[in-house]
Amino acid sequence: MKFVEKYSLSNLNALKVNEKAEFYCELTKENELADILEFSKINNLPIILIGEGTNIVPINSIEGLVVKNSLKGIKVIDEDTTEVASGENWHDFVKWTLLNNKFGLENLALIPGTVGAGPIQNIGAYGSEISNSIKEVLVFNVNSNDYEILTNEQCEFGYRTSVFKERSELLILSVTFTTNSDATVNTAYQSLKNEISSQGLSDSSITPKKVFDLVVDVRKRVLPDHHVYPNVGSFFKNVFINKKDVDSLNLDAEIPTYDAGDSIKIPSAYLLEKLGWKGKRKGGVGMSAQHSLVLVSYEQVTGNEILSFANEVINDVNLKTNIKLEIEPTLL
Ligand SMILES: Cc1cc2nc3c(=O)[nH]c(=O)nc-3n(C[C@H](O)[C@H](O)[C@H](O)COP(=O)(O)OP(=O)(O)OC[C@H]3O[C@@H](n4cnc5c(N)ncnc54)[C@H](O)[C@@H]3O)c2cc1C
Repeated sequence: MKFVEKYSLSNLNALKVNEKAEFYCELTKENELADILEFSKINNLPIILIGEGTNIVPINSIEGLVVKNSLKGIKVIDEDTTEVASGENWHDFVKWTLLNNKFGLENLALIPGTVGAGPIQNIGAYGSEISNSIKEVLVFNVNSNDYEILTNEQCEFGYRTSVFKERSELLILSVTFTTNSDATVNTAYQSLKNEISSQGLSDSSITPKKVFDLVVDVRKRVLPDHHVYPNVGSFFKNVFINKKDVDSLNLDAEIPTYDAGDSIKIPSAYLLEKLGWKGKRKGGVGMSAQHSLVLVSYEQVTGNEILSFANEVINDVNLKTNIKLEIEPTLL
């Protein structure tokens, strides 16, 4: 096992921030965990397991052992159940499900990153969330030095959150999915409906593979490619406000709101667009001109420059609307 000191993370995070990890190594096989745990104990360094770095922002140099997850493997348990190693690429796995007539994940096509990071913030898009299809998650608990299996319920999934956000001692090794063998589709999400009608398609012609293609088309059109414009997708979460608190907001009538039970949902992208943040740049950081919720680094910037720009956005939105935006990616 090779542990590298003072390792630059610039190629391991999608914003290309050039901070260093105290130590770095790559996990390719489960039996390497023992060496990693021993090294972390001897050197008194916390383990930070990362996937493809598409949802992290290194703010300072990291006093820990950053471990890149390259665990691979897909195991079919039965017709509707599949266990996937956490280092597999998410989009490749979604493609694999369709090739193998296992349906239900197609709305989540083209979300960057690994399978194992999916449960962390309960990745979601186009009317679906990964939690809809997770049966259980196999983790290694670095505190108890033991394996655990968390059921879907024990993962405490919520909007862009789960129990894993609070429990960094749990390293996700594999995720077991329940998929459908009948080709039912979920096209309830408005922008999918719009795409179907703009392409002149009839509802009866929509198969899971077609949903996959539509999602890929829309995402390629609306989101800046993080390989060209370094970004981590949505930088802020959408806003959920309890209905009894809505009157305290200063909301422009043109901002759309959606009913979400006890709350209303306010799409943060509209808020930022309305307040003039779309395409606004300060130094090497800005909100994308293509999508107002995506923070982009245009040149080599530090984690602190990103954070200070994000705080400027948060303060401006708060001052003008009384809404406090929350940052979506993990700040390391
Ligand atoms: C262009 C773009 C579009 C995006 N669109 C969406 C979208 O539509 N919906 C959405 O929800 N997200 C979206 N994202 C965010 C991102 O793709 C997801 O959060 C993804 O799951 C991150 O995967 P990753 O492997 O890159 O995780 P990383 O960024 O490497 O890690 C994210 C966090 O999870 C932890 N972690 C990673 N793997 C493990 C593991 N195996 N065990 C324990 N902890 C772990 C890390 O320590 C870190 O805290 C987008 C990002 C980009 C760049």
